[in-house]
Amino acid sequence: MSVPQEDCLFCRIVAGEVPADVVHRSERSLAFRDIDPKAPTHVLVVPLVHHCNAADLADNDPATLADMFVVADIVADQEQIIGYRTVFNTGAEAGQTVFHAHLHLLGGRSLTWPPG
Ligand code: AMP
Ligand code: ZN
Repeated sequence: MSVPQEDCLFCRIVAGEVPADVVHRSERSLAFRDIDPKAPTHVLVVPLVHHCNAADLADNDPATLADMFVVADIVADQEQIIGYRTVFNTGAEAGQTVFHAHLHLLGGRSLTWPPG
């Protein structure tokens, strides 16, 4: 689904209807700080167009999925973090709470693997 969703929090952030701490924007993606950070740098990168998860985005607009990784790397540079983790949660069972595709960029501290 690529139509803006009135009830979608990240569509509303993209539209400027809900405030966010924006750190970067590209022609395809917007990056803003997570409201409940799990690391010193915790930024969400979202496509401007609504897709419910990463697979839906990859199916319909792979160039934007690629752009999100480029944006994540730009933000990591801005934040001067050496090494970072990118995560897409897909489905409620995996902890997805906002059903607008988003990449979590985490860094700024030592990150254990596998995550807890
Ligand atoms: P997920 O659990 O993978 O769906 O990630 C959703 C993320 O959105 C969580 O890490 C939340 O902390 C974050 N979040 C929820 N509301 C906001 C908001 N208004 N601004 C920024 N981040 C938010
Ligand atoms: Zn949306």
